[in-house]
Amino acid sequence: MTLNDSLDPENWEDFRRLSHRALDDALDDLMSLRERPVWRETPADALARLDDAAPAQGVGLEQVLAEFVRDIQPFGVGNRHPAFFGWAHGAGTPVGMVAELLSAGLNLNCGGRNHVGVALEKKIAAAMAKLFGFPATASGLFVTGASQANFHGVVMARRAALGADVRENGLQGASLRAYASTQAHGCVEQAMDLAGLGTAALRKIPCDADGRMRLDLLRAAIAADRARGDRPFLLVASAGTVNFGAFDPLEELADLAAREKLWLHVDGAFGALTVFSDKLKPLVAGIERADTIAFDFHKWAHVPYDAGFILARDGAAQRAAFAAPAAYLSRTETGLAKGEIWPCDLGPDLSRGFRALKVWMTLRAYGFARLGECMERNCADARVLAGLIDASEEFVRAAPVPLNIVCFRLKHADDAANRALVERLHVDGVAAPSLTRLDGHTAIRCAIFNHRTRSGDVEAFFNAAREAAKAFQK
Ligand SMILES: *Cc1c(COP(=O)(O)O)cnc(C)c1O
Repeated sequence: MTLNDSLDPENWEDFRRLSHRALDDALDDLMSLRERPVWRETPADALARLDDAAPAQGVGLEQVLAEFVRDIQPFGVGNRHPAFFGWAHGAGTPVGMVAELLSAGLNLNCGGRNHVGVALEKKIAAAMAKLFGFPATASGLFVTGASQANFHGVVMARRAALGADVRENGLQGASLRAYASTQAHGCVEQAMDLAGLGTAALRKIPCDADGRMRLDLLRAAIAADRARGDRPFLLVASAGTVNFGAFDPLEELADLAAREKLWLHVDGAFGALTVFSDKLKPLVAGIERADTIAFDFHKWAHVPYDAGFILARDGAAQRAAFAAPAAYLSRTETGLAKGEIWPCDLGPDLSRGFRALKVWMTLRAYGFARLGECMERNCADARVLAGLIDASEEFVRAAPVPLNIVCFRLKHADDAANRALVERLHVDGVAAPSLTRLDGHTAIRCAIFNHRTRSGDVEAFFNAAREAAKAFQK
């Protein structure tokens, strides 16, 4: 026996056998998704077995893998399953799974320094800038998700409005005002809070019947704020709203932002990546005029969590908002500390993982056009479901279906009945729609994001919902 003080295995061949088995288990699990319920609650005994989460003495990989297969693997959120229709979740891909394995093997810290991980992140930023029609001055950064990316957008807008001084002396009473629609994601409001501007500084502009921000009301709100002596600085447009996938009128908003000298930030968490599809990309016409775009590779591009991105038209503005001098981060002419711009200059994170690899592998392996085709199929299936809802006796549609999300309700039933119906479907493991509120009432929300979902899955969901509806209708 060799004395092994490191954390590497004593017997690499044993370890190789175990890791191959782990990969096989993971593939078997992925390949048999359809045969299992969409979701199962983590049972109490499995949770209890996870209590000893930080033992002094380890149990070794073989036992840990057995524990993973028994107590963790079966109890995920269900987003890989073709009948998962909740929230806005990506489904992941086998390629992404392999990428995560390889990325963990390299264990790169992508905060900075002169290595291929940092270079690859820049390549992705450049490729996305090109797809969105941004100039060569653009730069971008991986973040956890669109919530974080929207926060970055607000911070950049704040820096652009108040200059370098805001970073040293804070707001100093500046009454900045931002604008987003009433359908904007809640993280925009949260970003205002986190950026020290306060949620009240976000004016929520009502939408038209299609869920698009009303330009007349926006213009009036800006004028009223200016008349009061407040300072409009930021316009947040939604490209794909969370409730039902509406797109704000980007061209008109870009005109208005230019006229009013507002920073134009687009929350395109899932909707921005419709640029991958020739059919869908007219929806984001005008996005090339934004100052910043927030989007998620982990939603409609199915890159494994997490892979949010913030893209800035002007890389200098991104650096101006975040770069900070630190002696231990100083750069050299050659060697490992070379590099004018590091990711840590573009955001607050210093240590950060290699999200670029799973995105690069996904885009290279599938090509963005194929991802775009999956989006188109999801939208077509949403229209199928909308048709079924409209023709049904049990349900009524609660919103338009401009993209891949269908909101509807039980006829002749209250909010509680709609909630109960969704809970029933979850608990039975049949399908997983989610809930939202529209026009002051609960609505069932079916978001079709999964590349594995087929029309048959949508029809099966509709039939199951209709069957379950019997129990909840008056
Ligand atoms: C999902 C979503 C967000 C938040 O993104 P995360 O990746 O979950 O942080 C923001 N805006 C919209 C429109 C979304 O759909």
